[in-house]
Amino acid sequence: MLPDFPIVISVAVAEEAILGAWRKDRSFDVLLAGAISSLLVALGGVLAMQFRKRAAMAKMLRERERGYRLLAENVEDVVTRVDMNGKRLYISPSIEKLLGWSAAEIISQSAYGNLHPGHREIVKTVLEGLGPDNPTAACEYLTCRKDGTYVWVEAQMSYIADPREPSPEIVAVVRDISKRKAAEEQLMAANERLKELSETDTLTGIANRRRFDDTLAREFNRCQRSKSDLSLLFVDIDKFKSFNDTYGHGAGDDCIRQVADVLVSNLKRPGDLVARYGGEEFAVLLPETGADNAELVAEALCQAIADVGLAHAGSSYGRVTVSIGVAGARCDARTSAASIMTAADGALYVAKEQGRNRVCVAAESPSLTLVRPAG
Ligand code: GH3
Ligand code: MG
Ligand code: MG
Repeated sequence: MLPDFPIVISVAVAEEAILGAWRKDRSFDVLLAGAISSLLVALGGVLAMQFRKRAAMAKMLRERERGYRLLAENVEDVVTRVDMNGKRLYISPSIEKLLGWSAAEIISQSAYGNLHPGHREIVKTVLEGLGPDNPTAACEYLTCRKDGTYVWVEAQMSYIADPREPSPEIVAVVRDISKRKAAEEQLMAANERLKELSETDTLTGIANRRRFDDTLAREFNRCQRSKSDLSLLFVDIDKFKSFNDTYGHGAGDDCIRQVADVLVSNLKRPGDLVARYGGEEFAVLLPETGADNAELVAEALCQAIADVGLAHAGSSYGRVTVSIGVAGARCDARTSAASIMTAADGALYVAKEQGRNRVCVAAESPSLTLVRPAG
């Protein structure tokens, strides 16, 4: 206020001058705060998205793991993982049903530990033979149960080399095949029985012609390889038609059976074979036997049958007798199984011609090499 004038003078600093700088700062701060908030919101969004992804992945992994566990734990087969030294890394709980040990009990045992001693090396060789070039293999073996009994199993093994793991391992699926093995054994026994029946003469129970022919071929080849001797006898009951006519067919059958028994019981060497070749005719195979020894055997057989003394009114000897043709040969290049048969048959014919109840030995021929001791 001026004393001399009616004037009041107000003096003040302008508002803009006071607040201008502050307003500038505030605008900047508001902008900054806005930018930071937007960034935070964006980050929050990204984080929330990551959490959702992670949760979905964890759920998928849990489901996948559950699926594998369900498979491994509920199939009858045993799933196992072992390292290349046979150390068990995992075994599914189905092992308890197969062997009686729980998975926890057996996991510390070596994979070779409970194999049958006779199969251990086989399994070891198969397992150790697995590798990048031979990634799968299967083998069957006997393995021991907790109660000490053995069970047949089949293992399908796969070699797994995961680059993220320090060493390769084997995944094996092991399956109980005892039922299949039992069925196979039954089938084999039935086949053997069938083969036996197909090679056996029904009347006498001795070998039939089929078995004789097979054995002759086999033995001839063997004797030819070792350049040894082989002899063949053809034994024929004398005047048998007349025997049947006099005593009947049933008595004839009994007579054939008795002759077969006498022939079998008078041959001692395990390789000798008596077969009913047909009707009232028998063939005897004597491997590793030359003509001279075969003649002695034939004489003994001829005598043994006559000694039984079976009545035969139609025979000039008054009893059942046989005639025997003998052919013995060194199994060399010029002799064949067929030529020995032909020679024995010829010798039988001569024995019949000469009066029956006797032995006749085939002579050496271009197709039959006889070996007789010197002198
Ligand atoms: P040979 O001394 O010359 O050998 O005279 P054989 O009468 O014995 O010879 P043949 O070939 O004339 O007669 C064989 C007889 O054997 C005829 C046949 O009825 C009889 N026979 C063949 N097989 C059997 C059989 O399984 N059972 C019986 N009971 N007789 C049989
Ligand atoms: Mg006869
Ligand atoms: Mg005959």
